[in-house]
Amino acid sequence: MIWLALFVIGLAIGSFLNVVALRYDGGETAPLFSPRAIGGRSHCPHCGTTLRWFELVPLASWIVQRGRCRTCRAKIGWRYPLAELLAGLIAVLVPLRVATAVAAGAPGMAALVGISLFWIVIFEALFLMALIDIRLGIIPDGLNLSLAVIGIFFAIYLGGTIGLANPSLLGPYAGMFGLQANLWLNRLVGALFAGVLFGLLIAGTRGKGMGMGDLKLAIPLGFLLGWPDILFAVAAAFVIGAVAGIVAILAGKRTMKGALPFGPFLAIGVATVFFFGYQFVRWYFRI
Ligand SMILES: [Zn+2]
Repeated sequence: MIWLALFVIGLAIGSFLNVVALRYDGGETAPLFSPRAIGGRSHCPHCGTTLRWFELVPLASWIVQRGRCRTCRAKIGWRYPLAELLAGLIAVLVPLRVATAVAAGAPGMAALVGISLFWIVIFEALFLMALIDIRLGIIPDGLNLSLAVIGIFFAIYLGGTIGLANPSLLGPYAGMFGLQANLWLNRLVGALFAGVLFGLLIAGTRGKGMGMGDLKLAIPLGFLLGWPDILFAVAAAFVIGAVAGIVAILAGKRTMKGALPFGPFLAIGVATVFFFGYQFVRWYFRI
């Protein structure tokens, strides 16, 4: 029942974030999350009919209506059910991962719930960031600032519940990279590493490879993940981004000049370290 409830809450969050991402105009008329930017009843973008409550049930409405508007029969894009499903999966898979990762340290049920909630908020925020970066090619400053504030509260919470040692997602393997004794020092180094790396990338490519939005996102991510988790997240983002870029060029969807937005790949990089980082380093050091 708890997992089902989490999934349904996640679906509703996804439905909301999808609307926020679609209505956000880059902050020109109103900032992100303000009623002026996201207010108003939902309507069909094709015929303009205001949607009734039963047409707004996440995932279910789309399936029941077979992906079409009930009034004008216009197709409703895959984007809607897909965004809802992804956000729903975040709400279920994140606590599952936290439970298996932290179980060894056995910090107690309350801490597991608390840590899970932090990570759910972080991943839903990254999901919203990715949706906006894909659509507009920008990352709102408000989101980056929110991630930084969440990171500081997360560090305070971790220090109070599981102690000052850095809880790296890579488990005992993080010790090889040093700086694991104090999570505050660890996270400051993570933020500094991300800031210097992306600063150098922007300077080296004269802003053509990376944008300032990527730098402003990477710094709070460095603080949230700490050292060396941020190193692995950025490496995963570059590898997956490069593969996606090559596939896009081969498929004729992009030219060498037209850059893919990098924000979504940073989010995928964080997810890769969060879900598979420990398994990856364990496999690597075994061979
Ligand atoms: Zn319609």
